[in-house]
Amino acid sequence: MSEGADPHVVVVGGGVIGVSCAYFLARRGARVTLLERSEIGSGASFGNAGCIAPGHGPLNKPGRVKQALTSVLSETSPLYVAPRWDPELLRWLRVFSRFCTAAHQERSLRALAPLSRETIGLYRELVRGEAIDCSYRPEGYYEVFLTERALAGATREAGLIRQHGFGADALSGGAMREREPALKERIVGGVFLRDGASIDPHRFVTGLAERAGRYGAAVRTGVTVSAVTTRGREVTGVETAAGETLPADVVVLATGAYSIELARRLGCRYPLQAAKGYHRDRRVRVGETPPLRVTCMLGERSVFCTPMNDSVRFAGTLEFSGVNHVMRRSRLEQLTRSAQQYLTGLGEARAQSEWCGLRPCIADGLPVVGPVPGYRGAYVATGHAMLGLTLGPVTGKLVSEYVLDGAPSLDVGAFRLDRFGP
Ligand SMILES: Cc1cc2nc3c(=O)[nH]c(=O)nc-3n(C[C@H](O)[C@H](O)[C@H](O)COP(=O)(O)OP(=O)(O)OC[C@H]3O[C@@H](n4cnc5c(N)ncnc54)[C@H](O)[C@@H]3O)c2cc1C
Repeated sequence: MSEGADPHVVVVGGGVIGVSCAYFLARRGARVTLLERSEIGSGASFGNAGCIAPGHGPLNKPGRVKQALTSVLSETSPLYVAPRWDPELLRWLRVFSRFCTAAHQERSLRALAPLSRETIGLYRELVRGEAIDCSYRPEGYYEVFLTERALAGATREAGLIRQHGFGADALSGGAMREREPALKERIVGGVFLRDGASIDPHRFVTGLAERAGRYGAAVRTGVTVSAVTTRGREVTGVETAAGETLPADVVVLATGAYSIELARRLGCRYPLQAAKGYHRDRRVRVGETPPLRVTCMLGERSVFCTPMNDSVRFAGTLEFSGVNHVMRRSRLEQLTRSAQQYLTGLGEARAQSEWCGLRPCIADGLPVVGPVPGYRGAYVATGHAMLGLTLGPVTGKLVSEYVLDGAPSLDVGAFRLDRFGP
């Protein structure tokens, strides 16, 4: 596309990934139309934990399969697979387990590290340069633990994270409580991830979409894309569910955990499952909600507690139950119950908001970002799992480079679409 000036790019999906693509493309002068079937930032990007976590690895790691097998059918465990007959899910789980090795973890950390480094600077640039009001707090975050065993595992991982150039300091229980007095006496220690930050994800995404509009992007909501149109091996545009045809030189599919069919019809075969997560926000009132200063991830329970606006957001859990938004009360309760184990000052306050969203998870834990093999003008950017907010801006920048320069400025070989075969 580098030779064609001013290409018309249709970006499908108005989550953090699609909005970031639209923003960087429009900022560099492309004609952009962003199509979102609902509202901007209404998918997984709406209510996530708001933690920007550079250096963080994928879900796949050594020991994960064993851990999963012991808890996977329990509705109250952090990782839950709803029992059902689903050959796609079984295939996904088989591939997932194959990638739970130390070698893959190391390869993934190496592949993700340059993107993480870039994202730290991009967030600073976007939030400050574009003056996006989104409670951005570049103050790091903590992982905290109740057991020596889990702490030892996290300390080992902190070593890996440091090897890839990110700050990860092991702290004793006492040091943790000095920094966060809301933590209970029983906390045995933690890790401080220095390069992390927190943000209100919805305000960031809607703010960025508005800035994309200022650079000329047409942002259209309430438009469902039903197909990518092609002539031979070239993309010609999209068709909408309302029967509208939109011509385009380039189509970027950033539909998150939804609409894998759009990519499949272009011959893409990557193993993707939706992993549902929940949040509960509680307004900070004396004696009702812990006055957390900085985001804490409750290690054994994988629950994030993020101070956000005038609330604390409890967010987490991974539930493989297909593409649906059914809220399981037991899993929501689990968020508060976990927080009670680690934090003081949790009274009986009612939740201010409750929500669930779907993370797009590829079986090897890495996103798919790049051109669709065999089709000129088609790109996919999805599968960011637990790191979509973290990697959103850098993904948008890389996609804009693919489209406008013909190649991205960072090594993205690990994220190719054809890595699971043609
Ligand atoms: C509980 C929870 C906590 C999380 N915490 C964090 C965190 O702290 N840090 C982090 O980095 N990540 C976190 N994540 C992950 C992160 O939220 C996701 O990776 C990210 O939001 C994915 O962004 P996306 O743009 O790919 O998908 P989405 O935000 O889901 O956006 C996809 C959009 O595409 C639209 N769409 C789909 N099909 C069509 C169609 N055919 N036509 C038009 N539009 C369509 C959808 O309506 C949707 O708005 C968390 C996720 C959850 C659920």
